[in-house]
Amino acid sequence: MTALADRAGTERRRARVAAPFHAITPFTLLDFPGRSACILWVAGCNMRCGYCHNPEIVLGKGTLTGEDALAFLRRRQRLLEGVVLSGGEATTWPELVTFAAQVKALGFAVKLDTNGLRPDVVARLLDHRQIDYVALDYKAPSASFEKVTGTRAFVRFARTLDLLCGQDQVPFEVRTTVHDALLNEDEVLAIANDLARRGYRGTLAVQQAVADPDRPLLAPLPPVRRKLDTAWLASRSPIGLDIR
Ligand code: SF4
Repeated sequence: MTALADRAGTERRRARVAAPFHAITPFTLLDFPGRSACILWVAGCNMRCGYCHNPEIVLGKGTLTGEDALAFLRRRQRLLEGVVLSGGEATTWPELVTFAAQVKALGFAVKLDTNGLRPDVVARLLDHRQIDYVALDYKAPSASFEKVTGTRAFVRFARTLDLLCGQDQVPFEVRTTVHDALLNEDEVLAIANDLARRGYRGTLAVQQAVADPDRPLLAPLPPVRRKLDTAWLASRSPIGLDIR
């Protein structure tokens, strides 16, 4: 790496620490089960999923500081029940654990949306009882993980999954997004089988990627040509599937 690229990387990291949030969605009833909530979108991500609809969050810098977000939350005390920490990938922000403690201290329940690549951060949040709900993306089985996510970090993802399966203090859900150019029915079934083997007792939410011409994707993927064969999957899956 050149000194120039090195300096640019350091500057990006500094900017992310100083202003981690891309944006705030002030109100949602859909993203935190059973609770009214807001969503804090953390800029930056440690994956590069081709079907990602948020390239501006993944590749861009944040514009809001932690204090900006806390000031917003103070104005919403007693009006909202929860805060969703999403992104991008919220666990890539080095101050996340401290921030989650500040959010909890304001009286909000905290939900984490995560791709699972930072089991160390999830473990700290669980240990300190700073999260109340987790939505974990299971992107692909081991053999397809790099193709879907641009990373070779399935082992780290699996550590997060095992961590969550091995505790019962915090409810969690697992979700998979399917674009037919990246995953097929056999691979979705492999995910369901792996979840059953690891002791996951919930339902796998399967979301079929949608091509929206007005929203750019992270990678130039072809349009979705084929929907999943839901009957085939449902007849073979050892766990419940919620296919949307
Ligand atoms: S879809 Fe993939 S690249 Fe986009 S924010 Fe989620 S984990 Fe990151």
